[in-house]
Order: sequence, then C-alpha cells, then structure tokens
Amino acid sequence: MEELLTKMRTLGHVNDLTKEMDNYLKHGTDRFYTYLFEADNPTIRSDKLYIAIRYPGATRGHIEIDKNYIITDIKLYNDACRLPHIYSDEILHCFEKYIGMKIVMEQTVKNNCIICDKHTYVNDYVITTSENKQKVIHLCDDCIRFSKLLNN
Ligand SMILES: [Zn+2]
Repeated sequence: MEELLTKMRTLGHVNDLTKEMDNYLKHGTDRFYTYLFEADNPTIRSDKLYIAIRYPGATRGHIEIDKNYIITDIKLYNDACRLPHIYSDEILHCFEKYIGMKIVMEQTVKNNCIICDKHTYVNDYVITTSENKQKVIHLCDDCIRFSKLLNN
C-alpha cells in the first residue's frame, strides 16, 4: 500500500497530490497553494467520505476515500459559470496514480513553537529566509490560527 503523507501547512493539509496540482495552476503559486480542508476529518455524504480540495476563494473539487483513507476517486468541479478555471486541462491526467493510495497524516511531534515558545504539538512550516534559503520552523496551532487572523 503506497502512502500519501499529508502534512499541516498554514492554509490546510498538503501532500504530493496538492503539490502536483499546484504545477497546473495557470497563474503559478505566488502566494497561495492548493490544500485539503481538514483531511483528518472528512465529510460524510450518503455513506461516502469526502475531503475538500481547496484553493483560496473556493472548493475546487474533492477526494473520495474509503473508511481506511484509501483514495477511490478524485474530482474537480467543473462549474464554468461560477468557478474560474485556475488549473490547466492537463491536470486531469495526474490524478490516476493517486487512486489506491492511502492518505496518512504526518505524526505531529512536540517541539518549541517559534512564536510563543510553548513546548507542544507543532506544525512544520516552510519559510524562505532573506538569503533565499528554505527553512523549517515550528508553529503551534494557536499561533497558526493567530497568524491566519492577521492575514485575513
Ligand atoms: Zn505558539
């Protein structure tokens, strides 16, 4: 069983699927990116489990999973009247390889939050330093929520 490791980022959960989807964004990933809404808490609708695929502004589609978190289908919504086509059409070809993979949530580890210094369960957060290097910092949920409030 191939696992699709899914991690928390500022906007929501991301994994190789959402990162690959970002490659098909027509306008690129300047500030935002594709993410999953509460991948660890799927929506139940008529006996099926769904995880929303989001890009800021709208839900763009969903992942359908079974009770073991195995991906059974991936759909993009095609609502030409309401949703702008933010992905190029070639995106549909990338979904197939993810069918049958199991969504696994990254184990959160305790560490010191870079903002409040609380030793607690933290999320890895990738930032780009002034020297243009990628660096992983640790943020607790409270501080992530707080920084989201500031950004909105
Ligand atoms: Zn904190």
